[in-house]
Formats: sequence, structure tokens, C-alpha cells
Amino acid sequence: PRSIVTLGEIVVEIMADEPGNGFREPIGLRGPFASGAPAIFIDQVAKLGHPAGLISCVGDDDFGRLNIERLRADGVDVSAIRVHPEHVTGSAFVRYRADGERDFVFNIKNSACGQTRITAEGDALLDRCGHFHVMGSSMFSFRLIDEAKTALGKVKRNGGTVSFDPNVRKEMLGIPEMRAALEMMLQYCDVFLPSGPELMLLTEAKNEADAIREILGLGVSAIVVKRGSGGASYHDRDGDLHVPALPVREIDPTGAGDCFGATFVTCRLQGMPPAECLRYAAASGALAVTRRGPMEGTAGFADLDALIASS
Ligand code: ATP
Repeated sequence: PRSIVTLGEIVVEIMADEPGNGFREPIGLRGPFASGAPAIFIDQVAKLGHPAGLISCVGDDDFGRLNIERLRADGVDVSAIRVHPEHVTGSAFVRYRADGERDFVFNIKNSACGQTRITAEGDALLDRCGHFHVMGSSMFSFRLIDEAKTALGKVKRNGGTVSFDPNVRKEMLGIPEMRAALEMMLQYCDVFLPSGPELMLLTEAKNEADAIREILGLGVSAIVVKRGSGGASYHDRDGDLHVPALPVREIDPTGAGDCFGATFVTCRLQGMPPAECLRYAAASGALAVTRRGPMEGTAGFADLDALIASS
């Protein structure tokens, strides 16, 4: 099969041991964990045994090496990940509040991943690519938006498809070029993978049904709305499907959306009908929340089948 490729940030995540508000006093921290939404996404694709590649950039430091070694071990093609001699690998500090909300301190915008470029290795990866995934969180500079547009254009010209997860954090919405880039990606994608609030963010629609109709009208083939412990819903021109969340104990929700999206897209590319794609995707999201650490809950089909069978 032709590979799935994405482009964007590799970072480490460092998480607070205890819930609370922000980072304004010394607290216990745990990490570094391999992270970055595109990295989690592509690691999950590879765990399903599908050819997978990531176009990115890290610093010549241990945070970068930790990530590359992890992705390579899980089967991701890391040939298009540059190692930049002058920039350092980015980091995200996260602390959960008592109500489950998260506070972040990001050092991403000025980190090595901002230097992501499509190298000759990246071009070769895109030649073998049947599906390109865009993460909104990666669209934080004009240069990165351009690289993503170039990549998806190439994949589309080769007959491939595109998916898009807006994946916006409130901390990022202040970046002026970001909103326009998110609206543009909506025009290009075949599969749109928003959360409930993100679905409403990118249209003028007053309610979800109108937003879905409007987005399908743009030429998007399928919309999958992720609703956390409320499960997920699927919408295309033929109708709607809903899948409940699997009953699991949530330890750490980070990465659930990325695993869900990766599994949905992989199953779809492998020709499974929407209901089956949705069922595996929900299992992948559920498994992700049972593990501490953003990329620690990625899993293969055997583990997803076991989780589905046990619930
Ligand atoms: P993030 O960007 O933080 O990864 P997201 O908003 O993109 O999150 P979620 O809706 O949180 O994505 O999670 C994706 C999917 O994972 C959900 O649609 C659901 O199927 C599954 N999931 C998430 N949280 C839980 C949970 N607590 N229990 C079971 N399944 C869950």
C-alpha cells in the first residue's frame, strides 16, 4: 500500500505530577516524553503496520534523539526528519487542572520544528504517499503553511487524499496567520477531523447540523467529529453514524485525538467501511487515554481488537 505522510512538529512533553493551575511555583515534573501531534499521529499509523513517514526537524540534542529513536523503533520512516545544528527541539509543559482542563507552556514556535522543509528525502517520501495528513497545530508560520500546501498539492496530483485535524489550542489562536491557514486547509481536505468546538470555530454556522452541511458543501467527503468521552460521529453525503466511547479509565487524555484520527484514516485507506473505521478509531482513542504520556498509548490492531472484545 502507498504510505501515509504528515508534516509538523516533533517536541517533548513534560507533565506536572499533580493537578493545579499553571506553573507559577516549583512543582514536580515528569518526562521528557516523545510528543508533537503529527509525531503521535504517524506513530499510531506505523503501529497499525501501515507504511508511514514524517517530514519534520529536530535539534541536535537528546530531545530530538529520543523522538527519532522512538519513531524509528515503531516503524516510522524518519529519513525526512532534518537535524538542525542551531535550533533546539521544542517542548511543551502541561499541567492538568482539577476540572480536566489543561494549561500549556509551549516552546515550539521558535524551536527546530519551525525549520521543517521538504528535503530531497521528503520529496521521495511524498512520491510514495497515498494520503497526506495536516495538523492545524503545525501551521504556525507562513513558511510551514507553504511547505504543507506544497506537500498536499503533490500528493493530490498523484491521486492521493488529504485529511485535516484543526487541533487548535487556545494558546495558539493569537497567531494571526493561523486562522486563515485553518480555513484554507478545510478547502483542500477529503477527511475533516475536528473536535466539537473546532467544528463550530471554522464556519459561521449557528448549529452543528448547518456547519456539517456547509463543510460537506465545500467538497469534503467525510467529517468525523471527536467528542471525548461522548464518543464520535461520522457525516458524509449519505448520512450520519455515531460511535459511543469505550468504557475505560482515563489517566491522560493527551494524544487521544491524534490516535483516533490516525486509526480512522489508516482504516479508510485500507478500504474498511465507515462504521468499521469509526469502531477502530474509537478503540484507538480509548486506549490512548489509559496511558500516561502523549505517545505511550499508540497501539496495533491486535490490542485494538482485544479492547473491543473486552468491552
Ligand atoms: P486531543 O487534541 O487532546 O488529543 P481531541 O479533542 O482531538 O483531543 P478527543 O475527542 O478528546 O480528541 O478524543 C478522540 C476520541 O478518543 C474520542 O472521540 C473518543 O472516541 C476517544 N476518547 C477520548 N476520551 C475518551 C475517554 N475518556 N474514554 C473513552 N474514549 C475516549
